Amino acid sequence: MFEWLANFGFPTAEQTWTGKTHEDLVASIEELDRVRHDLDYETDGAVIKLNNLALRTQCGATAKAPRWAMAYKFPAEQAVTVLKDIVIQVGRTGALTPVAELEPVFVAGSTVGRATLHNEEEIQRKDIRIGDTVVIEKAGEIIPAVVKVEMDKRPKKTKAFKLSKVCPECGSNAAKDEGEVVWRCPNPDCPAQVRGRLEHWCMRGAMDVDGGGEVLVRQLVANGLALDAGELYELTAEHVAGLERMAEKSAQNFIDGLEKSKLQDLWRGG
Ligand SMILES: [Zn+2]
Repeated sequence: MFEWLANFGFPTAEQTWTGKTHEDLVASIEELDRVRHDLDYETDGAVIKLNNLALRTQCGATAKAPRWAMAYKFPAEQAVTVLKDIVIQVGRTGALTPVAELEPVFVAGSTVGRATLHNEEEIQRKDIRIGDTVVIEKAGEIIPAVVKVEMDKRPKKTKAFKLSKVCPECGSNAAKDEGEVVWRCPNPDCPAQVRGRLEHWCMRGAMDVDGGGEVLVRQLVANGLALDAGELYELTAEHVAGLERMAEKSAQNFIDGLEKSKLQDLWRGG
C-alpha cells in the first residue's frame, strides 16, 4: 500500500516492519523507539495492522473502527528540571495561559525551556511554585507540560502562585465566565490577541502564508502595518522590507506567500 502511494508521489512512512509473532511485534516497536528521534519528523507511536485480507475479514470491525488495525503510543518521556519563573501568555482568544520558564532540559529528542501550566486552578491543585524542582513530560508534538513538583526539593520561602488578573499585554482587567477556569483579556484590540489572530491566519492548516511567523507578525503589529487579516493584503514588499532585520528577499517571499494564499479556501482562515 505504501509503495503504491509512494508511486503516486505521496509522502509515506520511510520504514515499515512486518512480523509473524508477538515477539516480532515487540521487537519492531522497540526498534522504532530507538530510531524515531533521528527521523525528520516527530512520531509518538505506530499503527499495527494485519496484512492478510482473509484475517482482516475474520477480525471484522467494531461500530467505530476495524479490529485489524491498532494504534500503539509510546509513553510520554519525562525529565526533571527547575522552574525559574511563571509568565502569562495571552492567546488569540484573550485566554491568559500561565507558562513555566524552565532550566533548559533535553527530553524526547529536543531541548525544552518552556512548558504549559494550563491554568491557575491546575497550578494550585499541583501547588507549583517558582523555584520548584519539577517533573515535565513531553510526547510527540504535544506541548511539554509540568506533571508534578518534587516537594522534598522545594527551597525555603517559596510562595503559592497567584495569577495576576490584569492582562500583561494591554493592562485590561481580565474576566472569567462562571464555571470556567480560564481568565481572558476582554479587549479585542489587545496587541497579543491581534498578533494571535494574524499568526493563526498565516499558519499551516489555515491560510498557510510562507514567512508569516511569530517574529514578523510581532513587527507588523508593533509598527501598526497590519492589525487584521484584511490589512495584510494591503502590504507591499517595501513596507515589509522596511522592518528591522528584514531581508528584501524574505519580504518578497512573504508578499508572494500572501498572494498565493488568496487561492486557499476562505474557511481555512477561521
Ligand atoms: Zn490584553
